[in-house]
Order: sequence, then C-alpha cells, then structure tokens
Amino acid sequence: MWQELEGGCEYCSTKLATKNPGPDWSFLESVVVICLRERDDRFAEACGELHYSGLCQRKPIFYRPDRHPEGFVVGCWDSHLQVARRLAERGNKCALVLEDDFYLTRECSPEEVADRTNSMLAILPQDKWKRFMLGHMSWLHLPYRANVSRVFGLFTHAVVLSQRGIEWVLNNPPQSFPPIDSTMAIRMSHSYGPVESLVFQRVTSKSDRSAQLNSQDPLMYPENMRENTWRVWLVWAVALLALFLIFFGVLYFLCKVRWRVALIVSIPLALAPLIVGWVLILTDVV
Ligand SMILES: [Zn+2]
Repeated sequence: MWQELEGGCEYCSTKLATKNPGPDWSFLESVVVICLRERDDRFAEACGELHYSGLCQRKPIFYRPDRHPEGFVVGCWDSHLQVARRLAERGNKCALVLEDDFYLTRECSPEEVADRTNSMLAILPQDKWKRFMLGHMSWLHLPYRANVSRVFGLFTHAVVLSQRGIEWVLNNPPQSFPPIDSTMAIRMSHSYGPVESLVFQRVTSKSDRSAQLNSQDPLMYPENMRENTWRVWLVWAVALLALFLIFFGVLYFLCKVRWRVALIVSIPLALAPLIVGWVLILTDVV
C-alpha cells in the first residue's frame, strides 16, 4: 500500500548531496504521491519527476491502492483521505500531496519553483490557509498578493495542505458526486494558488479519470491550466453584466427612474459586490 521512491539522482545520492544540495524543499514536512498499484508505468514517471524536481530529498512516499470497487471518483477521494490520515498521524502542518501524473513547469528551474512556492506560502494568512494549489484551473480567482491568487480551483494533482487543510479532508468523507476537486473548489475556503501554475498534469499519459470516461477531457491539458485568465475574466464580465442589467431593469422599469440616472446608479451597484468581496478576501476576513 505504501511504497518508497525508486531510482536516484545527484540530489538524493548521499555522496553528492553536499556538493549539490539542489532545490530547497525543506519547508515541506511530507511529500506523498498517489499512484494506483496497477500503474507501474506512472510510478516510474513520477519517480523520475521527483528526482528532477529535487523533491526526492524530502523522502517522498507513494500511496498505492488497488482500483476502488465504487469507481474512480470515490477511489480518488478515498486516496486523498487515506493520505490525509497519514499526514495527520505525523502532525504535519505543511505537506505536499501529488498525483502520479504531475510534472513541474520547464519554464523555470526546479530551484526557482521551490523558492517561489516557499515565498508564496510565507505570505498566506498562517492562521487561515488550508491549501495551496501548485497547479489549478479556476473559474474564479481573485488577486490576493503579488503572484498569489485566492482560487476556487479544480484539480488535485499538486496540492500543499496545511493542518487545517488536512483536517478538512478528514472531515469530508468520499462521495460519488460531485468529485473531490469540484467539492474542494466550492467548499474549501482559504485556498490559494500561484497566478501562473507551476505544476501540471502529463499530457501523454491520460488520467485514469478521463480514460474511464472514454473522452478527451480538455481540462486535463496543461494549456488549459495556463489559460486560466480569460475564463476568469469571462465569468466576471458575465456576472457584472447580469448584475448591471438587474439593477438597471429595477430602477428603470419598476422605479420609473430616468434612464440616464438608472445607468449611472447601476454601474457602481453592480461593481459593489465584487469590490466588497475582494476587500474581504484581501483582508483575510473570508
Ligand atoms: Zn533524486
């Protein structure tokens, strides 16, 4: 069920460790990778990526369950639950949970990914943050601090969990619908992520989820994780337009206000919920 990392590299070889310490992931107390027992190909890929990223130095451990009898949605969720139990047993307050198809961006070095992750974690509200998504696709996210967003994000392939985040997973047992990532996106408050994803899912080996659905799930492709921004602005634009039309309609048709006045008043009224929400997020209230 639990398996250790295989292979080696210049970072994790004890002989060379002093010469080239590699990326500094020391802020992570644990690194766990979820990989089905039957997928030795994915296990090998993930081992390679752990060595490339230097995460091998953190003595990562693999959770390798059998395929779940109730299907992939419950199985995925159950795996995250079992991993959270292990992290809680060890009293972890900052742990990285990966799925076996993760891979680091190649647009910057693993050292930079580690440093950026560390500095972004440091600016989160330490008494509130639950998860930090190294890769995500969000229909909704708001700028929080430099390079960090508050996200309502999908995907569970590379998530840093705080103690609160671990407790959240423990308190939310698996269900068949909606899947864990959608549930987290909606219900797991204080989730954050980099504006630009740093960890993606492999394009070459299709995820178990999309393979079972027998479809090419476009959300799985890294390009879609990179193109977060236009979706977010589309959602906000539609929401703002809808709010504006509602306020304008009420003022013009129901209250019989002159159209110019209705127009001038409706714009700030439509913007108000966005501004109030953003201020509450920036001040860590919600
Ligand atoms: Zn290594």
